[in-house]
Amino acid sequence: MIPHEFDYHAPASLPDALGMLAQFGDDAKLLAGGHSLLPMMKMRFAQPAHLIDLGKIPELRGVREEAGTLRIGAMTTENELIWSKLLQDKCPLLVEGARQISDPQVRYKGTIGGDIAHGDPGNDHPALMLALGASFVLRSKSGERTVPADGFFVGTYDTQMKPDEILTEIHIPVPAAGTGYCYAKLKRKVGDFATAAAAVTLRMKGDTVDAVAVALTNVAPTPLKAKGAEDSLRGKALTDAAMGAAAELAMKICDPAADQRGDVEYKRAMAGEMTQRALRTAQSRCR
Ligand SMILES: Cc1cc2nc3c(=O)[nH]c(=O)nc-3n(C[C@H](O)[C@H](O)[C@H](O)COP(=O)(O)OP(=O)(O)OC[C@H]3O[C@@H](n4cnc5c(N)ncnc54)[C@H](O)[C@@H]3O)c2cc1C
Repeated sequence: MIPHEFDYHAPASLPDALGMLAQFGDDAKLLAGGHSLLPMMKMRFAQPAHLIDLGKIPELRGVREEAGTLRIGAMTTENELIWSKLLQDKCPLLVEGARQISDPQVRYKGTIGGDIAHGDPGNDHPALMLALGASFVLRSKSGERTVPADGFFVGTYDTQMKPDEILTEIHIPVPAAGTGYCYAKLKRKVGDFATAAAAVTLRMKGDTVDAVAVALTNVAPTPLKAKGAEDSLRGKALTDAAMGAAAELAMKICDPAADQRGDVEYKRAMAGEMTQRALRTAQSRCR
């Protein structure tokens, strides 16, 4: 299908983009990689009169570390995440997650900011962000605020972001050295969204769990932080029984929709299975 007619704008700076967003209001949409927005426009679920392309704003790109925090520009593409030596060394979970997003074509253009801002429960970055304790920098003409990932995702295609805001940067506290990690994603075929997936970070103190985060993809209208599962593991030995019990608790909070990827019971069971797999792999990677 062909999208509705629109005016295309390509601001060269963030202040220009914010000015346009304020000027056009609800008639405008931001364009990042276009892999979620353009299909929406072609199906006419979105019919913006103005498209503001963020692709020519250099300050929205790149990965750097500052005072123990990884700062990732919202327009950084999936492939740039995958190839980042800094992320490979300091945040391999993000690299592992980005590698499992769709196919090379999508990863060349699709951006981390677009993946988060879209609010699609099927997208992989939201759960990764929850597991990594990320926060998001939102800028508007009237100022800037930083919002934790936990609580940012409100519903399907719905986040805390206001229409006049641009997600500019993603902040991730550098995980402690030796943190175990895994993104376990079940998909029907290469390039597919998750049937269910689990992101885990894990730190052990001797034989017991010192710190753990578990977050789930595509098993509810938003990504889920499995807080009950985390609580059940903290201070305990990471035995098969403990992982099984944590998986049961993760499954309890799932509220998946039946679709071509499976029925509700199957998806809930797969959320449990992915949780156990991710925990086991994260345990094997702890140093
Ligand atoms: C075939 C296919 C398979 C896919 N499989 C997966 C998958 O397995 N896992 C996965 O996670 N994703 C998947 N995707 C989605 C893909 O990762 C998209 O790239 C991503 O959802 C959106 O990123 P984008 O840069 O393309 O954003 P766009 O499509 O340009 O924008 C998406 C939305 O976010 C808004 N937006 C974008 N950037 C900003 C910003 N900086 N500030 C505020 N709002 C902004 C836009 O206005 C729009 O509403 C798939 C897409 C396709 C086409």
